[in-house]
Amino acid sequence: MKEIILCKYGEITLKGLNKSSFESVLVKNVRRRLKRFGSFDCHHSQSTLYVTPLEDDIDMDEIVEELKQVFGIVKICKAIKLDKSLDAILTQSIDYISEELEDAKTFKVEAKRADKTFPYKSPEICAELGHSILCAYPDLKVDIKNPDLTISVEIREKNAFVNAQKIDGAGGLPVSTSGRGMLLLSGGIDSPVAGYMMAKRGVTVQAIHFEAPPYTSERARLKVEKLAEEISRYCGDIAFHCVPFTDIQVAIKDNCAEEYFTIIMRRIMVEIAQRISEKEDCNCLITGESMGQVASQTMNALVCTDAACRIPVMRPCIGLDKTEIIDIARKIGTFDTSILPYEDCCTVFTPKHPKIKPKLEDVEREQASFDFEPMISQAIEQTSFRLIRCGESTVNL
Ligand code: ATP
Ligand code: MG
Repeated sequence: MKEIILCKYGEITLKGLNKSSFESVLVKNVRRRLKRFGSFDCHHSQSTLYVTPLEDDIDMDEIVEELKQVFGIVKICKAIKLDKSLDAILTQSIDYISEELEDAKTFKVEAKRADKTFPYKSPEICAELGHSILCAYPDLKVDIKNPDLTISVEIREKNAFVNAQKIDGAGGLPVSTSGRGMLLLSGGIDSPVAGYMMAKRGVTVQAIHFEAPPYTSERARLKVEKLAEEISRYCGDIAFHCVPFTDIQVAIKDNCAEEYFTIIMRRIMVEIAQRISEKEDCNCLITGESMGQVASQTMNALVCTDAACRIPVMRPCIGLDKTEIIDIARKIGTFDTSILPYEDCCTVFTPKHPKIKPKLEDVEREQASFDFEPMISQAIEQTSFRLIRCGESTVNL
């Protein structure tokens, strides 16, 4: 019995002339992902991606779990691959779906003929297979509207496929079809979610983290690396940059009015992030900011931050409530790491009364009271780098 996996893609099917470029990126991403599980044939045809194992001892459930993290795939179905004959469908598929049939009380069969030359029409295929199932499982009932189990038969170019399970995929667009973005990754809840959301729309995500030792600890940085490892399950490989930020923060504290500390710090973060983005060919910055969440995320504060930036800043969490961000963090498995109690450089030297509605000219004047440029160049020179491989898990906290 030959079991294979069919992956259906959603939005890609709506693409016009460039559809095939999305498809080939998806196939490449899937191939790269599955390499460590053994050898597979992966190819696409008629808006479906076929994943066929070429070795016998491959655990197909493990492969399904892996594919659930690949953006661009909407549904995943384990299916049996059959000769293209009604006889094969009737005699072999019932055995294949016996477990599901035993668990169900009601079912329906649906059939799709991509190959219109197949001698039986879809309703005939449904009726024949339905009849065979009822003979084998007399207690089962047909329910067209709301069945416990839907069995799909697809007649394609070379083979027929039968499956009884459709599992939700990650949706979105294949990573690396939408350019590159630099994610400002803190140890909080919001920024890992922001990275996930942009990767979901096809963006290749790199990450940059600012640390302030000794005010922030080694464990605080490791926590952020762990978060990057966790989102890499969805994002793929992540280039991780870590910027030493202590001297700049101390200089801000010593030279600028307290109420502007945070906003100036954020403008310098953005300045450094965009310079590294230029070197890395990233087209935008990505942050976990959400409108009005804290003083540095009011409309006025965001305007002041953006004024320091020459490339777009994407903020996919901007319209989400904290509870909605938390729901996503739980779903993607970053929440438990995010709430570990390690300090962030943003919480060092926080002003008691930050300006809620800073004016750009005031912020610029305050920032101009000290020449940060040499420190910015030095921080960039001293930035460390690690390539996080997709799904890697090295950090234990
Ligand atoms: P998060 O939960 O993502 O930490 P937050 O609600 O704590 O966000 P802030 O601390 O104001 O908000 O940070 C806003 C955004 O700035 C973060 O979402 C992140 O993108 C970026 N950021 C904050 N601190 C750092 C840091 N140490 N390194 C890199 N980026 C950071
Ligand atoms: Mg934070």
